[in-house]
Amino acid sequence: MRKRTLFVASLLTVGLTGAFVPGASGALTPAPARAQGAQDDPTQTLVSRLTLDNYKTMLKGLTQFGDRRQGTQRNRDAVDWIEAQLQAVSCTNTERIVYQYNPAPRNPGPVRNTGARRGGPPPPPDLTTPTGGLVGRNGNGPGGSSVYGYRARTGVNRDLDAQPDERIRNLNREEPVNGERSEVYCTKIGTTRPNEMYIIGAHMDGHGVNEAVNDDGSGTALVMELARIFNAPDVETEVSIRFALWNNEETGTNGADAYVAQRRDLQGVESPAGSGRYPEPTWLGMIQHDMMMWDHGAPRQDGTVSRDQRPEADVNIEFQSDSEMAEESMKLAFVFKAAADTYNTDYPAAVGPHMTNTDSRRFQDIVPSISLRENERGAHTGGGWNPTWHTPLDVWTTFTDDDFRLGLNAAQTTLSAISQLTISHSEALKLVVQE
Ligand SMILES: [Zn+2]
Repeated sequence: MRKRTLFVASLLTVGLTGAFVPGASGALTPAPARAQGAQDDPTQTLVSRLTLDNYKTMLKGLTQFGDRRQGTQRNRDAVDWIEAQLQAVSCTNTERIVYQYNPAPRNPGPVRNTGARRGGPPPPPDLTTPTGGLVGRNGNGPGGSSVYGYRARTGVNRDLDAQPDERIRNLNREEPVNGERSEVYCTKIGTTRPNEMYIIGAHMDGHGVNEAVNDDGSGTALVMELARIFNAPDVETEVSIRFALWNNEETGTNGADAYVAQRRDLQGVESPAGSGRYPEPTWLGMIQHDMMMWDHGAPRQDGTVSRDQRPEADVNIEFQSDSEMAEESMKLAFVFKAAADTYNTDYPAAVGPHMTNTDSRRFQDIVPSISLRENERGAHTGGGWNPTWHTPLDVWTTFTDDDFRLGLNAAQTTLSAISQLTISHSEALKLVVQE
């Protein structure tokens, strides 16, 4: 139990000090509380520049490319559009990671059991509990999670005809082919420590014959909105911030894998020597955003889910408890939780230990890494809480402002936490904000 005691003690430390800033070594060290009074608080000023309308406009723009499935023209067009948008919001130093994606053809193999079997569907599991409850533990989920309650079906739709909207069907007709892929990022250069950076990411590819609105237009638009706000002409940050829109997440985080493989060893290298330029600043942390808007609660016994955002909806900040950087990642997660407690306008945030199935997994053993989501990826998404996930329902018309607002609140969380982590807390190096 000794380890557990230490775990709790470090939580208390985070809770008491509230926020952390990166030290010279990149380690997280306590920072002073933010200035009292909104007009003196540069973070509050930045958060106020996020609006529901701007977030929705950016997200709607992404829907013109259908599900943006990797290996298609609609995916390449989306990468080009994202790059143009980043440049339009003054994140002009865009760059591309180029890589090959050539998976072997799928072995047809034996037909998979999809639940239907001879003699009809399997009997429902007995979920009664030893304490007399009717519905309890329901097995394991991804990332080391435990699922409770009823599950609903999950899977990727590949059937064009399952999409009832003819316009969206037509957007998604092309099938992927092997070959070259690319993904785009841009960077806010730090004023005093340009050689260090946080990476803020989301994946721009999707699938399922839809508009990939929630998975992951919602995270992509969030990252692009933060790129807009941090690159405003009156904003300076001490350390650098990179805005990365991964490709090929849905095929197994291959785009993030290519980034790590190509860039990891370039960290902190000044190039050309003496130039003061660092093509790959040293990574201080990686923050991923994947599926940001739908928190409608657990499936009912018949597998259906409420059409309404539940009153208890929250932003789920996850780290991976069995990763090499678990302790530092947990601390980073609680920095984000504290920022949410201060700046989120509509929904709170919660921290969990099962970050899984998204691009931040590629960073989790190298640098503190967290993901922000609408639900716990393992227990909730894995248990079928989101009926739009990889289905024809992931289209613009499915979502209401209550859903879009949850994505906006995740943007508030990351914007405020990164603001606190990247601005200087010394008087001489304050974030420059002139209204
Ligand atoms: Zn996703």
